[in-house]
Amino acid sequence: MGQSTLISRRRLLGNAALTVALTPLAVCKLGSAVGAGGTLVNPAEAAAKAVKYVEDAKYGQGATVGSKCANCGLYQGASGSVEGPCQIFPGKNVKAAGWCTSWAPQM
Ligand code: SF4
Repeated sequence: MGQSTLISRRRLLGNAALTVALTPLAVCKLGSAVGAGGTLVNPAEAAAKAVKYVEDAKYGQGATVGSKCANCGLYQGASGSVEGPCQIFPGKNVKAAGWCTSWAPQM
C-alpha cells in the first residue's frame, strides 16, 4: 500500500465522518425553513375535521374576515411564513392562509 493510497483512504474516512457529523445540522436547518412540524395537516383527517380546518380561510365556515392561521394566537410559524406549526396539531404544520374554529386572536 503506497503513501498516496493511505492518505487518500484517510481523507475519504475524514470526509465521511464530517458528513455524518454535519447531516443532523443540515436536517435541522431545513426543518426550521419549512417549520418545525414539517408535515402539513390534511384537512381530511379526523383531527382537522373536528375543528373544520381549511387551507384557505376564505372557505372557513364561520371565519371572521381577516382571521387566518398567520394571525392566530396558536400559530407558531415565523412572521411571513407560508406554513408553520400550530399548537393544536402537535408535530404538524398548517398553512398560514388556513383557518379553523379554534382560531384565537394573538395576545
Ligand atoms: S388553531 Fe389557529 S393556527 Fe391552528 S389551525 Fe386553527 S386557526 Fe390555524
